[in-house]
Amino acid sequence: SPVIVAIDGPSGTGKSSTSKAVAAELGLSYLDTGAQYRAITWWMLSNGIDVEDPDEIALAATKPVIISGTDPKAPTITVDGADASAPIRTPEVTAAVSAVSAVPEVRRRLVDAQRCAAAHAAQGIVVEGRDIGTTVLPDATLKIFLTASAEARAARRNGELKGGQSMAATQEALVRRDAADSGRKTSPLIKADDAVEVDTTGLSLDQVIECVVTLIEE
Ligand code: C5P
Repeated sequence: SPVIVAIDGPSGTGKSSTSKAVAAELGLSYLDTGAQYRAITWWMLSNGIDVEDPDEIALAATKPVIISGTDPKAPTITVDGADASAPIRTPEVTAAVSAVSAVPEVRRRLVDAQRCAAAHAAQGIVVEGRDIGTTVLPDATLKIFLTASAEARAARRNGELKGGQSMAATQEALVRRDAADSGRKTSPLIKADDAVEVDTTGLSLDQVIECVVTLIEE
């Protein structure tokens, strides 16, 4: 049966770069579930939903149509048919996404879509997120849990972002988001018992990719 790889871990551990490269190398599909949570958050902010009000979020949760393109060489995300790849990366979305993601109605609809995407990936798929190994795809062929020191994670994020945030601000926002993601009641960020933990702190991206490819091929 098609290989299903779950890659979880906190922000800035290299999940996206690793997942895309591994999927491209092995000819698998790729799904960025964080982009989906960001997309629904962007829709909420754009449509005047109070992102501090879980009831309001729950009522609106099924309204936007969110579609992910799963080619690892050119992943896409649309909201109601419009390309959302740039606006989902703004600091405003990043600041609000943990609160929106904590609402069970939001998770329910996105988890359904994620399971559906995995079931339809004939060549197999790499799915990255926070709860893939624990909740979304508990029967995945291989589960990876990426970690890295707080400093390494903030440094990576700082390299990616063009928003001009200071390193200290980036690190603080990261720590706050990870605390919220780990502390929520529904599907918190946690390593699955059967996940392989890979600490990427001292590793290059190529080394992490090679490590994951080797684990898949074992
Ligand atoms: O991966 P990324 O940093 O883009 O994810 C953005 C946010 O989406 C996370 O901080 C988390 O709040 C939420 N998320 C989630 N479950 C996932 C993936 C992302 O709750 N599987």
